[in-house]
Amino acid sequence: MSIERGVAEALDRADGLARFRTEFVIDDDGPIYLDGNSLGPLPGAVPAIVERVVREQWGGGLVESWEHWIDLPARVGAIVAGLIGADPSAVTMSDSTSVNLYKLAAAALGARPGRTAIVMVDGEFPTDRYLMGSLAASHGGEVRTASIGSAESPTPDHLESVLGQDTALVVLSAVSYRSAAIADMAGITAAAHDVGAMVLWDLSHAVGSVPVDLASTGADLAVGCTYKYLCGGPGAPAFLYVRPDLHPTLDHPIHGWFGHARQFAFEEGYEPSSGIGRFAVGTPPILSLAAAEPGIALVAAAGIEAIRAKNIAATTLLIDLWEERLAPFGFGLASPRDPARRGSHVALTHPDGLAVSRVLRSERRVITDFRAPDSIRLAVSPLVTRFTEVWDAVEQIREVARGGYGPPADLRVT
Ligand SMILES: *Cc1c(COP(=O)(O)O)cnc(C)c1O
Repeated sequence: MSIERGVAEALDRADGLARFRTEFVIDDDGPIYLDGNSLGPLPGAVPAIVERVVREQWGGGLVESWEHWIDLPARVGAIVAGLIGADPSAVTMSDSTSVNLYKLAAAALGARPGRTAIVMVDGEFPTDRYLMGSLAASHGGEVRTASIGSAESPTPDHLESVLGQDTALVVLSAVSYRSAAIADMAGITAAAHDVGAMVLWDLSHAVGSVPVDLASTGADLAVGCTYKYLCGGPGAPAFLYVRPDLHPTLDHPIHGWFGHARQFAFEEGYEPSSGIGRFAVGTPPILSLAAAEPGIALVAAAGIEAIRAKNIAATTLLIDLWEERLAPFGFGLASPRDPARRGSHVALTHPDGLAVSRVLRSERRVITDFRAPDSIRLAVSPLVTRFTEVWDAVEQIREVARGGYGPPADLRVT
């Protein structure tokens, strides 16, 4: 074996982001956590901030605290904007990613009357598929799905056969939740615009893991969640982006008082706010937003370029180790080999992937994530993951594969 642990130790010593690990609540004797693309770790500042917002602002200030709270969505949205190449006036925090997908996709369908097709690719995240299915049905249209290889990055070529004059909207993940493949955002946006369609990017696995430049690619719309690489906490509010020139004309179906031009005038009729505010709906979840801010701010402070350099280095190490130590045991690679096309996780396949990931969790203290039918996802959280953790996790997987993993842990008699 040529990639000894010393290789990972040297990478840790040279890691410019290593100092960020102490900003998080992490037990060095705890399990190796490679599931930060499902739920990012807890920033150490969060408990005290939540305590202060609860005790001083809610408990002490009561309703007067809205004076500080009312600006919170815009303030957090501005930090997110910096991570996705957007003007702060084009981003706001609201609702969940699912609800924002619905709002923005419905707005796009409304802006393209007569066009009924929504274009997607296969293997897309379930909530995106379900939502577009129901929206297309309610508009008398259809979802058209292009086939891409399981570890391939979507390109305009993949979409060519499904894009047409009846396409209203293309909805795609910028980074695939399965394979971590990165879509050609600029190329696909241009191809959609060529046929007069809009593009809605789901940035859930992209934000905080790869550079995104919405403004320069001309993207119309985007949504994403903050509890994965942004470490915003379980169910943290999502963000949405609408290209500024579209603000005056796009209308979404959930008209709430927070989207009103004069919210506190309590007028009879609805008149949308002129800016990004029209895509807000109701009262923002202040406790969740306050808890989300530190993680998002840490990602911004670390800088997306440094984050990207580290996740390329760590996922490349992981793939080199896979080839040397795991491929001989029947593990396959289901992520792009080319680091430029790969986000911050690596998907490995194995016919007994479920049993392997259960034993890893219950007996080997390695937390990964399993996606049916056979995929084990190993995510690098660049602000906390050590290269030696990657090395150790691969060793544990190899041991499990070597020693057999028996029946799933919950079927055992002991
Ligand atoms: C995680 C994720 C979501 C999550 O949506 P919620 O409404 O927050 O549950 C949506 N889309 C993609 C692509 C995701 O990865």
